[in-house]
Amino acid sequence: MVTDSGTGLPLVDHHVHGVLTAELDRPGIEALLTESNWPAPPGTTAFDSQLGFAIRRWCAPLLELDPLGPAEDYVRRRLELGSTEVSRRLLAAAGVGTWLVDTGYQSDAVTAPAELAALSGAPARQVARLESIAERLAGSGGDAARFAGDLTAAVHQSAATVSGFKSIAAYRGGLSFAPQRPRRTEVAAAAGRWLRQLDAGQPARLEDQVLIRHGIWAALDTGLPLQLHTGYGDADSRLHRADPALLHDFLLASQHAGAPVMLLHCYPYHRQAGALAALFPHVYMDVGEALNHVGARSAAVLAEALELTPFHKMLYSSDAFGLAELHYLGATGFRRDLAKLTGELVADGAWSPSDAARVSRLIGAGNAARVYRLGDR
Ligand SMILES: [Zn+2]
Repeated sequence: MVTDSGTGLPLVDHHVHGVLTAELDRPGIEALLTESNWPAPPGTTAFDSQLGFAIRRWCAPLLELDPLGPAEDYVRRRLELGSTEVSRRLLAAAGVGTWLVDTGYQSDAVTAPAELAALSGAPARQVARLESIAERLAGSGGDAARFAGDLTAAVHQSAATVSGFKSIAAYRGGLSFAPQRPRRTEVAAAAGRWLRQLDAGQPARLEDQVLIRHGIWAALDTGLPLQLHTGYGDADSRLHRADPALLHDFLLASQHAGAPVMLLHCYPYHRQAGALAALFPHVYMDVGEALNHVGARSAAVLAEALELTPFHKMLYSSDAFGLAELHYLGATGFRRDLAKLTGELVADGAWSPSDAARVSRLIGAGNAARVYRLGDR
């Protein structure tokens, strides 16, 4: 049976979430095996997927089980060991050098960056979600005329402690938002509308395009990398509005802002993302959680992403959330796929072994270290 190859390639996971701290039963585990908001139809299981098979294949041995045993044995053994022990084993075995943790999604249910660092033995830094910053600010009773300045100040204040910002504009109306910085009067009017809705009892969920754009431009002004969700996500997003190609005019408008733009996930638009990364000097991409979800087909997807993406423009991320299996499979699968892919290119005589090793180090960790200035702070 094939074993892990490429072991030891240093990795920075530049977009990841914490692990759930609660004990997980079978429905709890299955819910985390899919981006779907709903359980598998009665009589079927989320384990019948590329990701489910990958867990039985690659994670089982870390729980002292034979590879590819039944899913029920895996779930039983996981419960026997307990979530904390399973997380510790899988996170440590992932061998990730640095985690850049998005703290904006279900932060009460999952480990904070410091806890993820303690469980894995590797440092974790925070990436702040712009919509969450705006929602916190609005929830604390803002003033419409001052909202623009207050949000800018909150973003700049965060910049002192975080490694980057993230926007989920793709989930909140899509990526075809107006490309340019909104005017102050527009922002004040939009803030007035939103704050009135909150006063009327609506939940603090930022959907307004003007305010989302204001947050994005405030983040660009800090010079820190701006991560944008693109492509495949849960049912809250609309796939056709998450195509990164919709960002073309925004990327033209933002190219001299001084901040890198990181296209996250991208699948099934990873080729579009590669084209944008090739065109725009400030644009980077990854293939994120898709590699976990496509399981045994991940090397093929990674190969497609690498068709056009310049080698100094691709990064590694797992987008793992909740289950440490995802953190582990993401890292070990990426190393295995990259080793396979570059190995084939070397065998074909297309690449030299030293180029293959150098490019692998760039994609695994070097590009992230450079763009997020991990050595500096
Ligand atoms: Zn994510």
